[in-house]
Amino acid sequence: MQRSRRIALLAHCLLNANARVEGIARYRGIHPVVRELDARGIAIIQLPCPEVTFAGLDRVRGTLEDYDTIEFRSHCRSHALAIAEDVHLYQDAGCEVGVALGVEGSPSCAVELTNLRGPEGKAERAPGTGVFMHELAAVLEPLGVCVTGLDAREDDRGVSTYCVVLDGLGWTRAANAEETG
Ligand code: SF4
Repeated sequence: MQRSRRIALLAHCLLNANARVEGIARYRGIHPVVRELDARGIAIIQLPCPEVTFAGLDRVRGTLEDYDTIEFRSHCRSHALAIAEDVHLYQDAGCEVGVALGVEGSPSCAVELTNLRGPEGKAERAPGTGVFMHELAAVLEPLGVCVTGLDAREDDRGVSTYCVVLDGLGWTRAANAEETG
């Protein structure tokens, strides 16, 4: 079978809800966006979870202020540089790496809406980019990879908004049917 040669990079927890801080996952295991990518013949590279590799699985929920430290930023930068090397490899082999998908509301993986400490000390959503996505965008955007975020609070957990991005790349279900039919 002919391969699609199309790859999306996905935030780790979209394929593994167990990486999320206890109690905040909105799906049991795998986010439904994965089924949409499969239907379009798009392969997935799972990004590392920078919070798990830095603070472990029993960490508490943090805000951007908690995570925006020299140590964590440098940790995220090393992950980002390793990912950029992988992207180079696939691009050199003729694959399209079109999009990296983050998670809105995260202090690490948000693209447009992060989590800041509110006036009463509680985490609140606010405009801003998470530390990891900021470092990732700095190395991936020059390679032509679009970095966007998925908002699991949307009605369909953000799938239809992401479909618009995939359609914009021409990565449609119809294109997949033509290529595999
Ligand atoms: S840091 Fe990113 S990958 Fe890890 S749980 Fe949070 S949003 Fe998911």
